[in-house]
Parts: sequence; C-alpha cells; structure tokens
Amino acid sequence: MWRLETPTSDDSSTNITTALTYVNGAVVHPISESQKARILELYEEYDSKSGNPHNDLKGNDVCPNLLNAIQNAYNQVQKGGRLEDFRNRIKLSADSCPYCGFGPITDLDHHLPNSLYKAHAIYSKNLIPSCHACNNMKRAKAGDAATEQFSHVYFGQRPTEPFLTADITVSEKGIVVRYSINKTAELEQEEFERLNYQFNSLELNQRYVSQINLFLGSQRTAIEDYASISTEALKQFFRRSYDNQIKDFGLNHWQTVLLKALADSDEFCSGGYIHCFGRKNLRI
Ligand SMILES: [Zn+2]
Repeated sequence: MWRLETPTSDDSSTNITTALTYVNGAVVHPISESQKARILELYEEYDSKSGNPHNDLKGNDVCPNLLNAIQNAYNQVQKGGRLEDFRNRIKLSADSCPYCGFGPITDLDHHLPNSLYKAHAIYSKNLIPSCHACNNMKRAKAGDAATEQFSHVYFGQRPTEPFLTADITVSEKGIVVRYSINKTAELEQEEFERLNYQFNSLELNQRYVSQINLFLGSQRTAIEDYASISTEALKQFFRRSYDNQIKDFGLNHWQTVLLKALADSDEFCSGGYIHCFGRKNLRI
C-alpha cells in the first residue's frame, strides 16, 4: 500500500531508440521521427490518464509490427539485454515490494499489461518494481472498472489518514489478524475500489500471516518484559513502536497497522500474547 517516487521519463526517446537497435548498430525495426513522436505522445497520454486503462493508450493507429518490436524489446530488458541499466535503475527505486510491503524486489510489473499496451512495455512510469509473488498474482489485471484495477504505485491517491486497519482476535490457538481497506473521507471512491481489489487479488490477509508470525517472534523478549510490568506498559511499548513505524513506513503499512491494533487490544496485552509464542504450527 505504498506509493513510490515516480521515475523520470526524460530518457523515453533514447530508450525507444535503444530498444529498436541491436548492440552492433543494426536496426531491429525502423521508426520514423513522426512514429517516435506518436509513441512519445502515447506516453504523455498515459501520464494525463494517471496510468488508468484506456483504449486510446493502445496505439491502435500505430504500425502493429513497430508495436510488437517495442514489446519484444522488453524481453531484452529481462534477459540482461540492451535496456538492462534502465531496468536496474527502476528496480533500485524501491527497497521492498510496494504492493505487499515485505517482498524483495525481483521483478518489474507492467501496471498496464504489455500484451495490450505494447507501446508502454518499456515506458518507465508503467514499470513497477515488485516481488515475484505480487507480480505473478497481479498478472494482466486491468479491467474497465475501478473494481477490476490495481491502484497505480506512482499516480494512485494515498490519503494522509489510515485507510488500512486490522482486527485482532486472540484465543488459545494464537492470534488471528484480519486487515481491511476502509473508505475514509479523503480516499476517493475509485481509489478505494482499486485498493480493495488489489488487496484481495494479492491475497494479502493470507500472505501476511507468516510475516506477522515472524514479526511477533522478533518482538517476543520486549513483549514479555513490558507485560511483566503491566498491561499498560505493554500498550505503551506498542504505541511508541507505532509512532516510530509511521515515520519509517507511513500510516498504511501492514506493520504500522498491526502495531496500532496490538496497542488497542486489551485481549492481547493483558495476557493473550502468551498464546503466540513457543508453539509448533503456530496459528496466527
Ligand atoms: Zn509483493
């Protein structure tokens, strides 16, 4: 649920030329100045539509073979080919996956699928650094309605208020955490629908289980120490951790939201935490 800084598109013209030229200088596919201008125009239209799916972005008026050549050039990006530096620069713009908030960056996801939006296959603002699991689960999802779209990592609205929340249930079997995306006053309806669709498509509630398990395990000593003082001391520990987490990761990171829910949970802080440690097959 993160936004990343939008990459520059100043090198788009150079990238098109590089994509259509072999390393030895031979031409992969010819492109005229007017054709290149049209591709760059499609990139500007992409920006003006905030990367949302639109038929106008498909470049139906552009020579299909030229579009195929640009799309194919992306494979060269993946195989360490002519655009490798470009690809690496975008991948290095994130420390961890902006979709899930924990996966390592291994892939570049096409926000608009390159099978449909071929001209944008090598457009910097359409390439999102992501983990393999999120990229694989997203696949070519870009429907006509916001309820079938992902929020754009560079253009999507991110209100400065909590829109991701977590509910905690504690039992002798452990802790169950259930995250939800909420419609807040600032969050636009379409962005709410996109974030909701994205969260469900990536099965984040299921995928956070092991991350929560690891996180609580890493906090075990502190949790037990503060709990031995008082319930309120443990709550204050979580509140301080929450404040620090906001500074590092923002209000809507899964770990920030978890800390808030833990601080608010009388059930967990007054003794429920003991069910979360030292078990095999821990159910969290
Ligand atoms: Zn991910």
